[in-house]
Amino acid sequence: MIGLVFDIDGTLVDSYDLDERLYRRAVLSEVPAVKLRNSWREYRYSTDSGILTEILEEFNLPVDEYYDSVRRRFGELVKNHLQNNNHCESIPGAVSLLEDLSGIPGMKIGIATGGWGHTARMKLDAAGFSELNFPMSSSDDALSRTDIMEICASRMGFPIERFVYVGDAQWDLYAAEKLGWEFIGVGKRLQGRCDIWVPDLLNKEPFLALSGF
Ligand SMILES: [Mg+2]
Repeated sequence: MIGLVFDIDGTLVDSYDLDERLYRRAVLSEVPAVKLRNSWREYRYSTDSGILTEILEEFNLPVDEYYDSVRRRFGELVKNHLQNNNHCESIPGAVSLLEDLSGIPGMKIGIATGGWGHTARMKLDAAGFSELNFPMSSSDDALSRTDIMEICASRMGFPIERFVYVGDAQWDLYAAEKLGWEFIGVGKRLQGRCDIWVPDLLNKEPFLALSGF
């Protein structure tokens, strides 16, 4: 059995920029005393929960006091953004790919996102994935991406010998390497940086090839 685990932002849904902008706004509106670093890469964990925890600790602010309000504010911002007819499209080919892969014997699909669960669900629904239901793990489960990926793996419920992570960012590649998982890179941020790469999800071949199809 092969376990194919997908990241969400930038991998299944074209939400990378939207997410970054609204996350920043949520943090700065709820915790105006902090200053954010230039890039998320400068934080230890590339996840909503991990980044927020590190920001609060850096500025000696109690995590218990601020964490939930930032999470809630971020949820409101994403919800408002989507309700105002703003687009949140799937990555081209993503819905069709997941439909096809979920019908392949010997292959199980999971979703492991560094985002929180509430906004992950909103973005998936807005981008046309609402009919699809796969085991999922999120920033609500752990701070580190590797922990989130392992929790997803444990929820996939089958003896799986081989895991492949599908992601759009360097931190996804590092996380897969750390866990000894194979990796498929999606989109321009990883072009030329990994062995198996696709510009979007219209090209199903690398995925089908995993199962010998
Ligand atoms: Mg991503």
